[in-house]
Amino acid sequence: MNKGLFKQLFLEKFETMHGQTIEEASPMDIYMTLGTMIRDYMSRKWIATNKAYVDQEKKQVYYFSMEFLLGKMMERNLLYLGWKEIVEEAFGELAVDLESILSLEPDAGLGNGGLGRLAACFLDSFASLQLPGHGCGIRYKYGFFDQKIVDGYQVELPDPWLKNGNVWEIRKADKAVEVRFGGNVRLDHHDNTTIFIHENYDSVLAVPYDSPIVGFRNNTVNTLRLWSAETTMRDFDFSTFNRGDYLNAVKYKHEVESISQILYPDDQHQEGRILRLKQQYFLVSASLQSIIHRYKKKGGSLDEFSHKIAIHINDTHPVLAIPELMRIFIDEEEMGWDQAWQITTETISYTNHTILPEALEKWPIDLFQILLPRIYMIVHEINERFCHELWQRYPNNWDKIGQMAVVADGYVHMAHLAVVGSHSINGVAEIHSEILKKQVMRHFHELFPHKFNNKTNGITPRRWLLKSNPSLAQLITDTIGPAWRNDSSELIQLMKHTDDAYIRDQVFTIKHNNKLRLAKIIEEKTSIKVDPSSIFDVQIKRIHGYKRQVLNVLHIMDLYNRLRENPDLNILPRTFVFAGKSAPSYYQAKQTIKLIHSLADLINKDASIKNKLKVVFLENYSVSLAEKIFPAAEVSEQISTASKEASGTGNMKFMMNGAITLGTLDGANIEIKDAVGEENIVIFGLTAHDVLAYYRDGGYNAWDMYHQDPRIKMILTQLINGFLPGAQDEFRSVYDALLYQNDEYFVLKDFSSYVDAHNRVNTLYSNRNQWLKMSICNIAQSGRFSSDRTISEYASGIWKIEPVYIAE
Ligand SMILES: *Cc1c(COP(=O)(O)O)cnc(C)c1O
Repeated sequence: MNKGLFKQLFLEKFETMHGQTIEEASPMDIYMTLGTMIRDYMSRKWIATNKAYVDQEKKQVYYFSMEFLLGKMMERNLLYLGWKEIVEEAFGELAVDLESILSLEPDAGLGNGGLGRLAACFLDSFASLQLPGHGCGIRYKYGFFDQKIVDGYQVELPDPWLKNGNVWEIRKADKAVEVRFGGNVRLDHHDNTTIFIHENYDSVLAVPYDSPIVGFRNNTVNTLRLWSAETTMRDFDFSTFNRGDYLNAVKYKHEVESISQILYPDDQHQEGRILRLKQQYFLVSASLQSIIHRYKKKGGSLDEFSHKIAIHINDTHPVLAIPELMRIFIDEEEMGWDQAWQITTETISYTNHTILPEALEKWPIDLFQILLPRIYMIVHEINERFCHELWQRYPNNWDKIGQMAVVADGYVHMAHLAVVGSHSINGVAEIHSEILKKQVMRHFHELFPHKFNNKTNGITPRRWLLKSNPSLAQLITDTIGPAWRNDSSELIQLMKHTDDAYIRDQVFTIKHNNKLRLAKIIEEKTSIKVDPSSIFDVQIKRIHGYKRQVLNVLHIMDLYNRLRENPDLNILPRTFVFAGKSAPSYYQAKQTIKLIHSLADLINKDASIKNKLKVVFLENYSVSLAEKIFPAAEVSEQISTASKEASGTGNMKFMMNGAITLGTLDGANIEIKDAVGEENIVIFGLTAHDVLAYYRDGGYNAWDMYHQDPRIKMILTQLINGFLPGAQDEFRSVYDALLYQNDEYFVLKDFSSYVDAHNRVNTLYSNRNQWLKMSICNIAQSGRFSSDRTISEYASGIWKIEPVYIAE
């Protein structure tokens, strides 16, 4: 492709699509035209990729996830195809501003946070590493809600991201499959075997929409297949409608379509909602049927299935893949239980994402059984056989068997099903995998030690550095060459330049320009003017008790108290930036958002502190907003209660953009510390060991902190004495959680150590050269947190897949 050719093709495409000339074009028409052109171009590579996969009969992996937090795709696709500059110049000649065209694309926000974004980074790495890996998910009509802040409170608005269509997807109506819910199972007997006949079920049509995922500067185009729920024509048009039961027919249609209507906005919390269970089964049943159909069509023998297909489940959400694969093998393919079980476990692998008990999925048996009667029978049988094995191994140890059973206490325990029915269980950072083995899943680890492993999370350096921070990316390329973009281990070459005055200067200038850009966005969005030479101290992530935004707030209150007492206090000016959504039903998290706003109101208009502090909350945290914030960040707040954050990936995005981590020894922070060394990170607080010991043995009393530390007493009093504007009793719940509910997340316990850590940040930053050296070191060491490294480890260690080279 070159500029002249692009321009010609673009104008032709525009006229054929819109029946008018470019002069009359709306920006949306231009967006659609460009999107269609990109997609058409990718289609050739897509066809070639699929053909190579079939011809070479290489093993494929399917990544099952209820969430894919993709963000925007157009600029990514332009960059990856090497078209960005060509289009920019051609559009310049047509007086079209590419930036404003790109901004028209809505974020594909089909995820809550880290788990969904991880799935998106993995798709990026599959394609960029030329690995045959595909995503399977749900095409939610409404993505993660839009957050508006009204009077300091979060208000949720629907996100109709498909309202103008989606240029990337292709509806594959001919590949639709049927998914069955409810009904009953009748047993029949044929030549000594029992046959299970599912009848009187409700049938839902699953229609796939495929989107191409192109690799970085290569010819691989993999597939993200998202399923949409529709009524079968048969049910809707003929049976119900013809009986004249119009209203019921419409109601039925609505009910069916509700399966792919919305993404549940709960992060780290499971709600026992039947629609969610329906979504989970819908995803796995549709995906497995289509995988097996395709496999058999290409002549594959089921005996070889696990050698040709790997299926990965992102958390337990798609764990019904295990009994559903068993159902297909046994009921439809007439396989015996033992063989079906062997192939199923060899095919499926599982990632655990959390040890928070409130996030571990379990479903009441009665609800499960009514919705999925045949699947329940299979789960029940899996449980019977597993408990029998346990009984052989631990005779009479009912207690232990009860703790490990798949079905127990009236519930189906999804994590237990995942461990029993898969060949690999991985945590997402070293410490998290260790806690799984030694605590949460210790019984299972004792039984299946070979199944457990670690795969530390990663992020794609192409979106989170090349795309979002182009000037830093250019500096890196100028310094060490372009190879880092598909081989992130190359970034380590920057270690040779940590003392290079020119590089330091450039890193400083680039960060400063990114801060200017963010300051402008902040002013546009909030009318708050921030000092671009202040330290940009950033905490952006879901709002949650364990992530401890409240600890950040208490520190800001303390700093403010010190400044009020002494306006000449020797501290560098700071801008505290927050962003993040709360689950709509999570009261404490919503109050935290209000608290940040109340504090911001107080501090931002207090002239007496001479603009040394500013507090900003940016609404509607999303991939696109994140891409604007990370490049401007200097301090990365990773302050979760130790043991609670399985890995974190925001921490990696900050690091790759040169921010210094201020964090606890939790999740991947520990590996970041190991990578950069203690002198290039600021660590504070309790260790996971301390926290787990307190939970186990007790011995922590929040009131002791209150009585021992006058700063804490003062701040907590200020939460409830009207000190914060417009908030009389508003923060009583925050106060009560800290004192009367004994501070579940050890906020007060870690307070003093956190304040000290902030003071160290202040000192480090005041030595510019020192700080820049730390910053360059963080960038240089961030290569190991590339999702390319993560995916390579999954590929060789779990899935046993290899790259497939696609010719031009
Ligand atoms: C990276 C990312 C997250 C995860 O952030 P953590 O700090 O790891 O919780 C959540 N949301 C978005 C939009 C992200 O880009």
